[in-house]
Amino acid sequence: MNRRYVQAKWQLSEGVLEPTVFELGEIGKGGVVVARVEDELRREVGELDDLIPRDLQRGAIGLPGLTEPEVARHYNHLAQMNYGVDSGPYWLGSCTMKYTPKVAMKLESHPSLRNAHPYAPEETVQGILEVLYELQEMLSSITGLPKFTLQPAAGAHGELVGALIIRKRFLDLGERRDEILIPESAHGSNFASAAMAGFKVVRIPPSEEGTVDMGALKAAISERTAGMMITNPNTLGIFESDILEIADLLHSNGSYLYYDGANLNAIMGWVRLSDMGVDLAHLNIHKTFSAPHGGGGPGAGAVGVIEELADYLPVPVIVREGDTYRLDYDLPKSIGRVRMFHGNIGVLMKAWGYLKLLGSEGVRLSSGIAVLNANYARKRLMDMGFEVPYGKDRPCKHEFVISLSRFRREYGVRALDFAKALMDRGVHPPTMYFPLIVQEAFMMEPTESDSLEELDAYVDAMGELADLAKSDPEELLSAPKNTAIGRIDDSFANKRLWLSWKVYKEREGS
Ligand SMILES: *Cc1c(COP(=O)(O)O)cnc(C)c1O
Repeated sequence: MNRRYVQAKWQLSEGVLEPTVFELGEIGKGGVVVARVEDELRREVGELDDLIPRDLQRGAIGLPGLTEPEVARHYNHLAQMNYGVDSGPYWLGSCTMKYTPKVAMKLESHPSLRNAHPYAPEETVQGILEVLYELQEMLSSITGLPKFTLQPAAGAHGELVGALIIRKRFLDLGERRDEILIPESAHGSNFASAAMAGFKVVRIPPSEEGTVDMGALKAAISERTAGMMITNPNTLGIFESDILEIADLLHSNGSYLYYDGANLNAIMGWVRLSDMGVDLAHLNIHKTFSAPHGGGGPGAGAVGVIEELADYLPVPVIVREGDTYRLDYDLPKSIGRVRMFHGNIGVLMKAWGYLKLLGSEGVRLSSGIAVLNANYARKRLMDMGFEVPYGKDRPCKHEFVISLSRFRREYGVRALDFAKALMDRGVHPPTMYFPLIVQEAFMMEPTESDSLEELDAYVDAMGELADLAKSDPEELLSAPKNTAIGRIDDSFANKRLWLSWKVYKEREGS
């Protein structure tokens, strides 16, 4: 079956654009219900103006009025112009764009949670603290790391927390260690986080297999090494099978092993981080445990540590005493608070719901299916002639990286053009041009949510584009045609952060 994901056609054809609320509405126009409430209020309490001191009153701010159906339709139209996990396949490698079960969304929007104030006294939010505590315990059982904080707002924030913990630890020990080792295939945020925490970054090149080059690692380790940040499986989707030797090398040198948890989806339920010798790690809650984020947030980057480092976690930590939960601020060695309140509760709540639904067997199964899906898609793409530059002779984990450089060489068609043409076929393009060690990279990650039909439809679309690149490259170079706006100038759009495509359209080329 070759199922296509085609959205509402009227929205997707170029030129049919949804106006803004300011263009749709009129000042003074409004919904019936609101007006009546206001009238009744006036009858009961008199003129509203008299109730509020004049210097505290707001003037008219010129918001446009619309009827309720107009508002509903407007937001529906905007939602149709968007693409999300609920619209179709979303193989954004490394980002693990998982479907969020609707029941988990329901939990998150429960009024007792949604309406709770972050400064509410502990005794009035025991339920929320219990959920957070339980989530920490579930994360501990998945990773083998005994202590967690849920404060960090995303993975990169968790990396910074991890690097600060390592720094504080060596300050306490009175050791001057100022280097962090990072494999070249790592996510850019690893390098940035280590540098922000005051470390010098030492890059470790990949072996021919795409894994950490052990010779280079041994040469790089010294008495200045505070730790190493590793992603396993790495961003090529390849498992670092030397992980135990890597951990031993670091530990015998007195250094820590930090694990970037973005790819935990590949191994959760199969191997624990503690079994791989990991000392501390962040988990991208919004990747591995559903609740994918778009446009930069909100996310959650829980950080787990071994007992030796538990005293350094950000305050407050949630502690359980009998049947009650409280926030403990008394951690003298703590690196301090890293975020207001308790973290991004909505994301944490969805993750809790997701994990409760799956249970430990489900966690293992979902990871297994994600890996199976990735291997199936990769095999079919390889059979079609797509090039896998690293690790093609061994199975991949939950994601894989193909190189489209042949199409660029032979037909002048880049990965970017493939991506735009995929949008016309109703699927979201994968992560592109990452990791940097692969030319014209497409990093593809199906997740456990895709059915066999969906996997085939995506792969078929890739096959169709490969044929077109040869027979009619112009079709790819001019794509997309079925989206609300066509080909945009990416670097121009990146440099000018205009939030409205309309403004972009008007000023494009200026
Ligand atoms: C996404 C990602 C990060 C950063 O995580 P955010 O939650 O986006 O801040 C770090 N490393 C890898 C491998 C990633 O894929």
